[in-house]
Amino acid sequence: MVKDTKFYDALGVQPNASDSELKKAYRKAALKYHPDKNPSPEAAEKFKEISHAYEILSDDQKREIYDSYGEEGLSGQGGPGGMGAEDIFSQFFGGSFGGAGAGRPTRGKDIKHAISCTLEELYKGRTAKLALNKTVLCNTCNGLGGKEGKVKKCSGCNGTGTRFVTRQMGPMIQRFQTTCDTCQGTGDICDPKDRCTTCKGKKTQQERKILQVHIDPGMKDGQRIVFSGEGDQEPGITPGDVIFAVDERPHDKFTRKGNDLYYEAEIDLLTALAGGEFAFKHVSGDYVKVTLYPGDVISPGAVKVVENQGMPIYRQGGKGNLFIKFAIKFPTKGFADEAKLKELESILPARTKVSIPKGSEIDDVEVVDVDPYKHTAGSRRDAYDSDEEEGHQGPGVQCASQ
Ligand SMILES: [Zn+2]
Ligand SMILES: [Zn+2]
Repeated sequence: MVKDTKFYDALGVQPNASDSELKKAYRKAALKYHPDKNPSPEAAEKFKEISHAYEILSDDQKREIYDSYGEEGLSGQGGPGGMGAEDIFSQFFGGSFGGAGAGRPTRGKDIKHAISCTLEELYKGRTAKLALNKTVLCNTCNGLGGKEGKVKKCSGCNGTGTRFVTRQMGPMIQRFQTTCDTCQGTGDICDPKDRCTTCKGKKTQQERKILQVHIDPGMKDGQRIVFSGEGDQEPGITPGDVIFAVDERPHDKFTRKGNDLYYEAEIDLLTALAGGEFAFKHVSGDYVKVTLYPGDVISPGAVKVVENQGMPIYRQGGKGNLFIKFAIKFPTKGFADEAKLKELESILPARTKVSIPKGSEIDDVEVVDVDPYKHTAGSRRDAYDSDEEEGHQGPGVQCASQ
């Protein structure tokens, strides 16, 4: 024996109704009382009632609670905080159309923009002024669309401006969202003489707004700068945000990893071996002068670090590090005569001894400069391919290879 039969009565079923009986009852009633079919206020009330009843009874757990304790037992479970009637309807009929009607959005869309920044700008920070064309509530009518008290909410669409039309095609139920024809999509009814002349009843107007975007030192690629509530305005909704995302442009000299900078420096062989100085322009705009000490010996590809010369650390102070990867510029062919080169023997470490196991065959060879026409893999293959083509032209090649 159930405590309360209200929900069962709403759907017109017995308290011992099976799941499929509940479904059938809800389907029939929902299509009958849906605001698209029946725009009267009584039907709307009934639609809500059956939707709520179905929401509870289609859930085994909730149904059990309801059967044992009645509606009070459900407080906090699918009460007023539960799903909207349209949501239940959409879920049941498998239509998810979004937009107005089925749960009108209460917050406007966010507007996203990329803001391109050089590494120099991200180092020092900058303020960008950006013009934004946005929709705002009409200043004249404050978004009412007409004289105060003269604009009435459209009853055909409940002020949403759109309606759902449900059509049954054989076993299929199809739902379409259409512009409300009673109010032409405006969501309200107003005598033309009371309409706002500035916005012509549209409630909104376009405005150009300048936003000052502060790029703070140390900001990173993808970091967002949010202007809360600066999105398009629309009556009855909270405007979304305008969001700028930092788009760090690649630098031709520096690479950034987090707060660290990477620079590739080419130094001459003498500096690499005997020390010296080299300098380069930092993203800060200053020149960084590096001193290498005699005898330090920098090998090609060696990496050294300059502490605290990286990017500023966003809102924390301090800086990352600057890593320098070395390339060594060797002198060109014939830079010194034989006698001078002989002197190197007394300076540089001795030559590495040639070691070939005893008894090995030795091919004495010479190296020559690479000739791209003669030596690259690509050109050699081309030559090979053309040979092969010639071969294919001749008869009997395939037989010969078998
Ligand atoms: Zn207006
Ligand atoms: Zn309407």
